[in-house]
Amino acid sequence: MYDVYTFFMLDGKVAIVTGGANGIGASTVFLFHEHGAKVVIADIEDNLGQKIADKLGENVSYVHCDVTNEDDICNLIDTTVAKHGQLDIMYNNAGITGSGSPLGRILDTKKSDLERVISVNLVGSFLGAKHAARVMVPQRKGCILFTSSAATATAGISSHAYAASKCAIVGVAKGLAAELGQYGIRVNCVSPFAVLGTGMSAELSEADVSKAEFALSNHVSNLKGQILKAEDVARAALYLASDEANYISGLNLLLDGGYSVV
Ligand code: NAD
Repeated sequence: MYDVYTFFMLDGKVAIVTGGANGIGASTVFLFHEHGAKVVIADIEDNLGQKIADKLGENVSYVHCDVTNEDDICNLIDTTVAKHGQLDIMYNNAGITGSGSPLGRILDTKKSDLERVISVNLVGSFLGAKHAARVMVPQRKGCILFTSSAATATAGISSHAYAASKCAIVGVAKGLAAELGQYGIRVNCVSPFAVLGTGMSAELSEADVSKAEFALSNHVSNLKGQILKAEDVARAALYLASDEANYISGLNLLLDGGYSVV
């Protein structure tokens, strides 16, 4: 049975969710809001992001932010703190598979594919974490989260460029956990396997249906037909963002139904 404390797991907290207009990010926005947080959605999909903010009311707002643009990131953080007076949770979730060959072999992957995916997934996450730390260090508390990927544990389920970006995020997260723990700041990753029903999974299926189906069929065999959903990832993010996880930092939490250990 839930008591009031566990039900409203983020009561009084202020959260930013990048990539919050779609998929995993949007599910997280809904869940964080349901659990009492004030949430700022950051994305480049202005119509979708604003629509969610309008639907959820005064405790949820939208800010246009291309995570690869440091000025946009600064504006996002500063606008949030000006509006709410604090920043408790920075969820760096925005990501892309990368154009060209999302599930491709090394010979199909161009240098520009690598650069683009590193720019959004790694540099964007780094900038979000850096400017969140600017606020959280003086606050002496905070939580930084990243969406990495099960590609950090299992080879062959994504392109080399994408896997490289996601493995690098885990490196950033661990380094920050070690550096920022002294200020009461926890830093963790959630790392999902293939999630159905997001913009990214549609893109993967379009790129190569057989590989996408292969990934999903392996996934399905692990948990008796249970397919990972955006809501499952949002629940993991909720836990790590909440005080329930107050001694957890530097973790790469795999959501792969046991795939990587079977
Ligand atoms: P999605 O495409 O539904 O959502 C991604 C969001 O990021 C979109 O709203 C998009 O507009 C936004 N975005 C893209 N580039 C941006 C930029 N430069 N600045 C700001 N926002 C930007 O995909 P999703 O599946 O919800 O992916 C969310 C995260 O989960 C990504 O980091 C992705 O790599 C990761 N992930 C997804 C899966 C999966 O199977 N879907 C698996 C593992 C990890």
